[in-house]
Amino acid sequence: MVVELHCGKTCGLGYTYADVATAKLIETKLLDCVREAPAAGIGALWARMVCTVRNLGRPGIASMAIAAVDNALWDLNARLMERPLHSVLGATRSSIPIYGSGGFTSYTKRELESHMARWVHDGLTRVKMKVGRDPAADVDRVRAARSAIGSHTELFVDANGAYNVKEALEFAHLFLDFGVRWFEEPVYHRDVRGLRFIREHAPASIEISAGEYGYDPFDFERLIEVVDVLQADVTRCEGITGFLLVDGLCAATNVPLSTHCAPAITAPAAAASQMLRHMEYFFDHVRIEGMLFDGVPQVRNGALQLDPACPGNGLTFKRKDAQRFAI
Ligand SMILES: [Mg+2]
Repeated sequence: MVVELHCGKTCGLGYTYADVATAKLIETKLLDCVREAPAAGIGALWARMVCTVRNLGRPGIASMAIAAVDNALWDLNARLMERPLHSVLGATRSSIPIYGSGGFTSYTKRELESHMARWVHDGLTRVKMKVGRDPAADVDRVRAARSAIGSHTELFVDANGAYNVKEALEFAHLFLDFGVRWFEEPVYHRDVRGLRFIREHAPASIEISAGEYGYDPFDFERLIEVVDVLQADVTRCEGITGFLLVDGLCAATNVPLSTHCAPAITAPAAAASQMLRHMEYFFDHVRIEGMLFDGVPQVRNGALQLDPACPGNGLTFKRKDAQRFAI
């Protein structure tokens, strides 16, 4: 869902990946919040959008709609200043640590092995795979992934909330044999009690993470109590403005932050994050962002490299290529 905001001859680009209902909501509610408004007033415009969705329910579709507009507002401002967005956001780095993410449960063991080995071949030092769809196969799959990536690459697993609490705790111990360092959404992300139990009882060398379904600051405030690393998605958490609030929450509680999905639109905010551990470099989104946008940041030396000179987020929408997907 792409948003373009115009100020004179300058155009700001933002997006989220969401249902078409998100676009409808922008048309009927959010457009009036930003039309004819001063582009530089991002904070006030963000607050106005949040206020406007009060009766619709803030988390979910409304938060994603706000995210797309807020991301476009930030890009518009940076382009008006003719400066890179990450530098406008206060970043001093243009190289961002990442981890390769994919390892889908739909892969055969052989496909999983070659997929994971490919990340390492490309220079990545951390990789993540999915678990939980078929628990009986998980230990075998994790063993296969470990042998494919060797002993020096960090191995993460993501259960997408598939396990129950006792099952997740058992797997946390089993995965330890394969040096798993990160256990994402071991149980349903809204089961805060379950997440707390896992975090308090899992081996100390496995970090528990969650946050990709965080929409507003209140979601993150609840979750940060029960994770070792908080995650946030700039296309869900009400945009870069919302992401910076999450970063502040992490700073105030000394919890590291890792970003979720959509690396190209996330990168400038990630570069500016005070508490950033790393960014997720998600296989499917890397593919899709490359199809739909020119100027996506590239991986070099195992990190994502931002262009230190290109204004805004550096992205150009490939309108013609995107046309066949238009709705
Ligand atoms: Mg996940």
